[in-house]
Amino acid sequence: MFSSPLNLWNVLSRTGIKYAQTDREKRELIDLNRGLVILLSIQTLSLTSHLINGLHRSALMTAVFITGLLLIRLLIWKGHVNVAKISGIVLINYNTISMAVFLGDHTHIIDFLLLTALLPLYFFEIKDRKLIFWGIAISIIPFGLYHFLSPYLENYGVSLSEQLIINKSTEPVKFFCMAAMLYLIYHKNVRYEKEVTEKEMQLVNQKKLYEHLLEQIPIDIVTFDKDLKYSYINSAAINDPQMRNWLIGKTNADYFKERGLDMNLAVERDKILHEALKKETLVQIEEKLTDRQGKLRHTLKGASPIYNEQRELLFLVGYSIDITEMKEADRKLKEYARELEKKNTDLKHFVYATSHDLKSPLRNITSYLQLLTRRNADKLDEDSMSMIAQAINSVKHLNQLIYDIYQYSIADHNDKPTELTNLNNVLEEVIKNVSDVIFEKKGLVQYSNLPKVQVAPSHMNMLLTNLVGNALKYNKSSHPHVKIGCEENDKEYVLSVADNGIGISEIYTKQIFEIFKRLHAPSEYEGTGVGLAICNKIAENYGGKMWVESEQGKGSVFYFTLSKKAVEPKRFIETFDNIAKAS
Ligand code: ADP
Repeated sequence: MFSSPLNLWNVLSRTGIKYAQTDREKRELIDLNRGLVILLSIQTLSLTSHLINGLHRSALMTAVFITGLLLIRLLIWKGHVNVAKISGIVLINYNTISMAVFLGDHTHIIDFLLLTALLPLYFFEIKDRKLIFWGIAISIIPFGLYHFLSPYLENYGVSLSEQLIINKSTEPVKFFCMAAMLYLIYHKNVRYEKEVTEKEMQLVNQKKLYEHLLEQIPIDIVTFDKDLKYSYINSAAINDPQMRNWLIGKTNADYFKERGLDMNLAVERDKILHEALKKETLVQIEEKLTDRQGKLRHTLKGASPIYNEQRELLFLVGYSIDITEMKEADRKLKEYARELEKKNTDLKHFVYATSHDLKSPLRNITSYLQLLTRRNADKLDEDSMSMIAQAINSVKHLNQLIYDIYQYSIADHNDKPTELTNLNNVLEEVIKNVSDVIFEKKGLVQYSNLPKVQVAPSHMNMLLTNLVGNALKYNKSSHPHVKIGCEENDKEYVLSVADNGIGISEIYTKQIFEIFKRLHAPSEYEGTGVGLAICNKIAENYGGKMWVESEQGKGSVFYFTLSKKAVEPKRFIETFDNIAKAS
């Protein structure tokens, strides 16, 4: 198990280490373990020597002592480190005094007490005052006891000759113990000293780093003492080093007076400091100031009090950030946003007006073309009739396109309030909408356990009508089968619309969500390429996303997510009624 004595030493030194919380506790535990192992080794040697010399009583007492030391190691092993330390001191001291009593005064065992009085210094951290106190108290009591009892002890000791042998044979042990103990205490002190020096160095370096950072940051940073006098000023706040030095220990009023600035501003600045002190937290204000070049500058000023652990005020940190450019950018952004909003509204007016105004001329074109065919059926040849039929189809397609573009433009209108919508009910309506197609294609649309979500029902109707419509349209199966399902995770519902249709090649699975993107000619499948763009827009408007998984020739599954939490639809766009009124 232990490949070398060094390995054994390491294992013994690390007993109970898993209970130590900090690195310091770990190191202390290792020292403690080492101390105990040294003590145990010395005592085992001493036991052997007693046995060789035939000193039975002394051997028995040393054996008891060794047992006690082993119990202390057991306590450490179980993580009761402080109990082990106190027990260690009790054991060592009271073993020593009982040896003095039962072996005799001339053994000079009591000398050990002098030695072991040092133990608390080694066992406990200096800052652990309570334990140091108890350790010393426990160490002193045996002295008192011994001096009180010594006149009556003669009868309990072994014979004088044996006492002298014991004294002689324990001499090297005492020497070793003293040397080991002093070394351990020395070692501990050296380690503390090293730690303190390292910590000091760390602090110095940290201070340097912070000072460097404070000098590099292009923000005015200052600190004030409790009397609101400047205690630190970085060079961004005041560039002139002489002025910086002068200002240390001065107040805002001193500074404004020196520079001949508006004294009211000094009062305003002090107000922030007073307020931060009163509220015991960060206080910020925006300040307008004309700089030396006569330009108006906007600044954001803040003050924050810093306290120590006892909630005593240490100092106040003040900062000032020039936000003139930010303000300007913000103003421009708002202006652009307003312009964009206006253009957007114009565009919507245009879409509405176009779709509205084009309806009747297109209807007229279709009607006249149909009238033309009917009235001249006997005069027109086959070619002319086919041309007119194509013209009627084109007008129909144009009509559909205009309608779809209009639907796309209003897909994110949040005029309709959201409500807790049962998607099962929405789907029932959708099936009604497409019932002709289902009947015609001998199709089957199935759905189960759809959730209730906070949405506008009309948006969900539009989305699902498009997806179910596509699933039936792009389907050559003799029995088109559409399945609508739902899975959920912590945050959202994942709805799916699966079909056994023609499928989509992998390279197009992203493109089909773009407006006007079609994969088929109108002669093959009618359509405008707007439906999926509408679906995507609606899903995104509710904070969701949309994607498709498909295999050509086997079918597709369209997915979209809806948040479980009510999501405010992304944009507020003028209501359809408003646009209608405006136009
Ligand atoms: P439209 O159906 O009017 O062409 P869409 O935006 O709804 O427009 O669909 C875009 C394209 O995506 C379609 O032209 C079609 O090629 C493909 N597509 C959509 N849904 C399906 C589906 N369920 N199966 C196969 N292809 C589909």
